[in-house]
Amino acid sequence: MAATRIDGKAVAEDVLAKVKQAAADLESRRGVKPGLAVVLVGEDPASQVYVGSKGRMARECGFHSVTHTLPADVPQADLLALIDRLNADPAIHGILQQLPLPKGLDADAVVGRIHPDKDVDGLTVVSAGRLASGLAGQAFVPCTPAGCMVMLRRVLGDDLSGRRAVVVGRSNLVGKPMAQLLLLANATVTVAHSRTKDLPALCREADILVAAIGRPQALGPECIKPGAVVIDVGINRIDAPERGEGKTRLVGDVAHEPASQIASAITPVPGGVGPMTIAMLMANTVTAAYRAAGETPPT
Ligand code: NDP
Repeated sequence: MAATRIDGKAVAEDVLAKVKQAAADLESRRGVKPGLAVVLVGEDPASQVYVGSKGRMARECGFHSVTHTLPADVPQADLLALIDRLNADPAIHGILQQLPLPKGLDADAVVGRIHPDKDVDGLTVVSAGRLASGLAGQAFVPCTPAGCMVMLRRVLGDDLSGRRAVVVGRSNLVGKPMAQLLLLANATVTVAHSRTKDLPALCREADILVAAIGRPQALGPECIKPGAVVIDVGINRIDAPERGEGKTRLVGDVAHEPASQIASAITPVPGGVGPMTIAMLMANTVTAAYRAAGETPPT
């Protein structure tokens, strides 16, 4: 039987409906509009698209939304000064530095300058430390793994006790925080990466398999345990000559069709983790605004 499709678009719509409600509630009771500032440096086309959709979504959620666009040759000191101004601006509750930064700029220094209370992307060392210390309730969790967990909970519930989870990928953005979240939910977690030996055998032990590799369809059916829940984080563009000359399409890190014949549930690409990432950015921004107002954020 084919696996259940975990519809990231539908789950994201649920999350966004709650975000809109929470934002409207905070504004009507306290006169506070959640504020999100997105900083884009340079003219990377993919980054421009991402920044545009984040701004649009923030406005749809009823937020105060600002985008700062700086030239690729902006001096690091000017970029840091902008982050300082946003840190001090009471109308801004969340700051997102769009990555990657152009050559010559130090991404760690720029992200590190964001005040932890406004780190809605969850990428500062303080946020990572809070998550690793089990203080997820005080941390901002990076949006992609946070979205993966929301989808997993829809399928498996809140408590993953007794489940074996394998996360393939160990980036600070996805793999590591994903592993921390699974651990907090009581799963037994293994993190694999490019130096892991016999990856398929390891993956076949996984009740929960999270693929965050960045290699198109790298995990085939030999990597899937019967009945596993598969979260495919990868977004890879490949040639699609079957759609016409020069055409391309998006695929994940998992070979979706054969994996679907073995797994019990799987996220599609596109339409899985992608829509959840932006929804969780909005959720983190509402959380930041509630915390700034001295209120407990809605869950
Ligand atoms: P990174 O390139 O930072 O990390 C990739 C990880 O995969 C590394 O830990 C690397 O290992 C590991 N890896 C690479 N090749 C292999 C292999 N052959 N076998 C096992 N492990 C391997 O990527 P990100 O974590 O930033 O992103 C991963 C994927 O998720 C990408 O496709 C990206 O586009 C996508 N993504 C999707 C998002 C969404 O919204 N859906 C958001 C963010 C990312 P090592 O450390 O040893 O090099």
